[in-house]
Amino acid sequence: MTSQPTATNDSLDSARAHPASSKTDITVIGAGIVGLCTALALQRAGLRVSLLDASGAGAGASYGNAGLISTGSCIPISLPGMVWQVPRWLLDPSGPLALRPAYALQSFPWVWKWLRASAPSTVTRASAALNALHSCALSHYEDLLGADTYRRLIVQNGQLHIWSHNAKPGKADALVAQLRAQHGVRIAQVSGTELHNRMPELADHVSAGICFTDHANTVSPLALTQALLAQFEANGGQLQIRSIQKIEPARNGYRLWTSAGELHSDRVVVAAGAHSAELLRPLGVRIPLEFERGYHVELPQAGVTVPQPFIYKDKAVAVTPMANGLRFAGTVEIAGLRHPPDPRRVESILHTARELFPGIRTEGARSWFGLRPSTPDSVPVIDRAARYPGLYMACGHGHTGMTGAPMTGALIAQLVAGQTSGLNAADYALDRFA
Ligand SMILES: Cc1cc2nc3c(=O)[nH]c(=O)nc-3n(C[C@H](O)[C@H](O)[C@H](O)COP(=O)(O)OP(=O)(O)OC[C@H]3O[C@@H](n4cnc5c(N)ncnc54)[C@H](O)[C@@H]3O)c2cc1C
Repeated sequence: MTSQPTATNDSLDSARAHPASSKTDITVIGAGIVGLCTALALQRAGLRVSLLDASGAGAGASYGNAGLISTGSCIPISLPGMVWQVPRWLLDPSGPLALRPAYALQSFPWVWKWLRASAPSTVTRASAALNALHSCALSHYEDLLGADTYRRLIVQNGQLHIWSHNAKPGKADALVAQLRAQHGVRIAQVSGTELHNRMPELADHVSAGICFTDHANTVSPLALTQALLAQFEANGGQLQIRSIQKIEPARNGYRLWTSAGELHSDRVVVAAGAHSAELLRPLGVRIPLEFERGYHVELPQAGVTVPQPFIYKDKAVAVTPMANGLRFAGTVEIAGLRHPPDPRRVESILHTARELFPGIRTEGARSWFGLRPSTPDSVPVIDRAARYPGLYMACGHGHTGMTGAPMTGALIAQLVAGQTSGLNAADYALDRFA
């Protein structure tokens, strides 16, 4: 467990006293969940913070995710033995993984690093890093949002993982169980009967589950980002809608070339999600980020009982009851940045929805696709850029950015202040990929 960094009353008062001003101590690029939490943490440390986004708060992956705040999520995606499952997943049109053949060669260096990250020693290190980032997420959110907004937007009702009787045990199951036990993740077994009592319309083939009793979810990822933005603005901050085209070192800081003119900032945090790598590449800072494209389908009137979120492990699809309907989110598609969304992935999620709930109503279904910013070992890069004083990176949160964002903000604030933290900074450093 890590301790939550606290801002002193003085620094909070000083941050609140600063009106939106042209003088900025630090600029955060990206108003997704990571950029917003980072901007708030920096404000609380007493800095005048500028927040820039090409499209608005919560416009990227932070909009369409499954909303799970998985405090016990300490298992990276790449695990021992997974390589042997990849061909089966790729051959199944409704399976969890798709690879665009024309992009295969381009993605190979990342995929190779991803496969190598399945070594047990890397998995164990990544697991500790993820646990430190995720385990305190709820108390951080409550602190950032205030108790009332927290209660309106975040429900702590546990989270199920469920399987069909066709599911085969994974080669890494023993390691996964050991890591969860080591990090004190609380899990309760749930029988098939109990699952069907909780969700009477659930298909018979789903026969087992476990419940992560401490997990939570937001009922609206978009409302969560908007609430964080409202806090940022209440503290005197302002979000500017500008696309950053280039970051250039300048005297006493950085010149930012934007869609609406040039800006200067003493210090910069790049929290631009999946676009972070391309912003940093011209500076020679190379982050191994791949776009794990994900999709959701939201059913406004599904007509089935889902009292708490769950992940259907056979297909790696998350199902979350949200304010505007029942959201089915998942699939990993490796197809690059600019390839248009593939309607077959939406179909595959709808297929899974019907497989889970044969009577489900799909009228009015809304679909979405977005880019998970993913590193090979599932651990984000939260670091300063080695050759560029005052340039920081907060990106690569992959499948768990809604969970890891608050602690990421706290860690960046500590790096900027030159403080040491309860976290092992080396676990999130870019040079682990060197
Ligand atoms: C289908 C799916 C389901 C998921 N489910 C969950 C879940 O249940 N729980 C969980 O914890 N995580 C989940 N995730 C992961 C989570 O959504 C991401 O890790 C997280 O949203 C990443 O946040 P971010 O702020 O880094 O990126 P983003 O939310 O993508 O934000 C990046 C921002 O940067 C801006 N930007 C980019 N380039 C520029 C530029 N040049 N100039 C200015 N602005 C720029 C964008 O406009 C965007 O607003 C899921 C992801 C997907 C796709």
